[in-house]
Amino acid sequence: MHPKVKPALRRGWRDLNTVQFGMAPAHALTLGPLDTATGSFLELLDGTRGLPLLREEGHRSDLPDGHVDALVRRLGQAGLLDDATGGGPAADALRGKKRVLDRLRPDLASLSVITCEPGDAIGRLAARRALRVRVRGAGRVGAVLASLLSGAGVGEVDVRDGGCVEPWDVAPGGLPAEAVGDRRDEAARRAVRGAAPDRPPRRGPGTPPDDGGPGFSLVILALRDDIAVHAPDPSAADSLIASGTPHLYAGVVEGTGVVGPLVLPGDTGCARCLHEDRTDRDPAWPRLVAQWRSGRTREVRPCDLALATTVAGLAAAHALAFLDGRVPSSAGARWEVSLPGLDWHARPVPPHPACPCGAAVRGKAEHTSKDAGTHETMAEHRSSVRSRRKADTTRPAGTWRAHV
Ligand SMILES: [Zn+2]
Repeated sequence: MHPKVKPALRRGWRDLNTVQFGMAPAHALTLGPLDTATGSFLELLDGTRGLPLLREEGHRSDLPDGHVDALVRRLGQAGLLDDATGGGPAADALRGKKRVLDRLRPDLASLSVITCEPGDAIGRLAARRALRVRVRGAGRVGAVLASLLSGAGVGEVDVRDGGCVEPWDVAPGGLPAEAVGDRRDEAARRAVRGAAPDRPPRRGPGTPPDDGGPGFSLVILALRDDIAVHAPDPSAADSLIASGTPHLYAGVVEGTGVVGPLVLPGDTGCARCLHEDRTDRDPAWPRLVAQWRSGRTREVRPCDLALATTVAGLAAAHALAFLDGRVPSSAGARWEVSLPGLDWHARPVPPHPACPCGAAVRGKAEHTSKDAGTHETMAEHRSSVRSRRKADTTRPAGTWRAHV
């Protein structure tokens, strides 16, 4: 281990013996009390020295025996330490690709802010390279979203759509003007390849079937059809529910951008749960949906370019959070933003008892066990999926949290 105090968090001394790491309240921490010698010693924790050398340096600086190890342990527990040599074999391989890593350095630094264990950040970044994601829909939202995931280091991003690129599909970061008239899915895949920091990994023998089922870490439904965005067709996700494939909805309908729900099958509300819940609240909902679906198909639907790009960006961020092992706030909720006020708000997508996806049954069982006196937290009492993906940003409580 080559300890490195996370350089992504700006440092500032709040007083003579208290140092604050980070500026923004979401991730800032204070550390103290620190004497001057220890404070100076922090400068040596830059990832260039292993522990034996650091102990020697500590000895030379007249720090007491064991002080260096205690400091490193304390910084590690606080989530302030990275390991310049950690992260495992995949991380080592990524370190060996300097050109690729240079492209991803800001993403790596960002991951270091939100991960706790030394070496976790590069480990997660390296893990993205082995992931496979499918994006259904290659319009203004889908093509940009797919390119973003590719640019952020996701190893394989497959895009599915039909037809040819129309002039109104063109978007910065997505389908280029030169692609007008080309097959839409092929043009989107070219955009994805162009955004990737590296050549795509070669496909192995375990290549999954083409229906978006098993084998994909995540499927994103970024359909160009505005009705499918507003009222997602539950049957379109049947194979994803059956195979237990996590999937995320994103798109633009009229002047509203939508991100979510992220569906963790059997765990959080799905498109059918959404439909049933809306029907409970508004008996006319199915009648309206039927009329919308049977109505005339519009060639050009409203889709503000900046709104579409915003949706693509936020959806990509939610997707990456999930792929990195977290449960973002779109799980069981739709984030919506409407022009021109642009206030984001979340609408819950509760699991519905009539939905065969089973999320409501599981949720009820968990509530029962909670009522019976278990001491699980909300994060822990969700399903095994949730528990496995539970946010790992837990830090020691109390004095570590900065008051900023
Ligand atoms: Zn459901």
